[in-house]
Amino acid sequence: MNTLSLSFGSIVNAIKEKKLSADEVNEEFYERSIKLNPKYNAYITVVKPHAASGGEFGGIAIAVKDNISTKGIRTTCASKVLENYVPPFDATAIERLKAAGGQILGKTNMDEFAMGSSGENSAFGPARNPLNTDYVAGGSSSGSAVAVAAGMAPIALGTDTGGSVRAPASFTGTVGFKPTYGAISRYGLIAYANSLETVGIISKRVSDARLLFRALAGVDIRDSTTREIDMNENVKISKRIAVPKELLNNIDERVISRFNEALNRLGGAGFVFDEVGGINEVKYALPAYYTIACAEASTNLSRYDGIKFGTSSRIEGNWRDVMGRARSLFGAEVKSRIMLGTYVLSKGFYETYYIKALYVRSILRSAFERLLKSYDAVFIPTMPVLPWKIGEGISDPEKAYMADVLTVIPNLTGSPAISIPIGSSGGFKVGGQLIGRPGDDMKVLRIAEEFESVIGEVKDGEP
Ligand code: GLN
Repeated sequence: MNTLSLSFGSIVNAIKEKKLSADEVNEEFYERSIKLNPKYNAYITVVKPHAASGGEFGGIAIAVKDNISTKGIRTTCASKVLENYVPPFDATAIERLKAAGGQILGKTNMDEFAMGSSGENSAFGPARNPLNTDYVAGGSSSGSAVAVAAGMAPIALGTDTGGSVRAPASFTGTVGFKPTYGAISRYGLIAYANSLETVGIISKRVSDARLLFRALAGVDIRDSTTREIDMNENVKISKRIAVPKELLNNIDERVISRFNEALNRLGGAGFVFDEVGGINEVKYALPAYYTIACAEASTNLSRYDGIKFGTSSRIEGNWRDVMGRARSLFGAEVKSRIMLGTYVLSKGFYETYYIKALYVRSILRSAFERLLKSYDAVFIPTMPVLPWKIGEGISDPEKAYMADVLTVIPNLTGSPAISIPIGSSGGFKVGGQLIGRPGDDMKVLRIAEEFESVIGEVKDGEP
């Protein structure tokens, strides 16, 4: 049995049944991560696992995105600004992971402060797609997806503000689950855009995502936006799925072909797909997302002023020098978003941009709410394009932003969404995305699992 290719759930069971030793599994993943990291750049920090100490997950070590605070372990956000930052506390998600008998195998590479869709905006260099190392792995949770796809971790935590677990899952042939907004506490997550982001999971199989989600979800007194989710797995489904036709424009032909093939195969398994129209406002989703995300980012990132966090002690001079030099450490993408966000919040432009974006968001929310009264979920491709060559995205930022056109919607509406592999093209994987009503996480997971059993490509025991 090749442990490295097993799903998280199978490993947890094998440890429970004493067919595998958690320490040996951890050692195997650790060795492989050390060996392959120079090739894939999946981890910013690899951590030697402790002796396994039992619990639900048996002491198994998993990958964690480097914007989730880990006590005593460097947490950089892939930024020069936090290059040497070691948090004195664990994020709630990490506390819960540990309480369930999990531990940390390493901190994964990402776009700086989670801003990006390809992993190219990392101060530590891009993570590389295991399917072809000249190509991007998707982002911003690039390293988490690469770690799972390359057998360098059994499962990984990521974060998703506008697609950051689903995009890299789609590009690497893994499963990427973004829960309902507020399902998992954001306490200890280094903030990018608070009203949009969630902790998410990248795994080999849908059932893995559910297993870890159950351990992490729940109300947290330290995050007032958390809510209780109905965890009943035996949820009824009607097998009626909506495919909004406004979301199928301008998509790469190869992606659309795989998507249509998936619809046919799933149709044969009893699912009914209705092409629906009428959500015209979706064309404003992307600009609304970038307006809101940049606005929130500009205020969140103002704390890195060279005094409270990061490199302050090493910079001397008056406050202007200190602040100027500290903030010049941000990468180009982060700087441009801080400027854009400051602009859309400034007097005179606030109503023109920010308020309008909030309006679009509320229209989208009601439109999806209405639609999902008659359907279990919405199904669309995850990414409108296939992975691009490393370097191409940076020279064309507009192309990179357009790549988010399908993933930002559930973040604006607070919905659970999951990307699963639906096929391949030219050596790359194509992902399909299910989106449900806020709170319907178990329903979305259940349907995704049925989809996976009909069209799934990644199976236990296969790399
Ligand atoms: N690509 C999107 C952005 O750059 C989403 C990133 C994310 O989900 N963190 O904002």
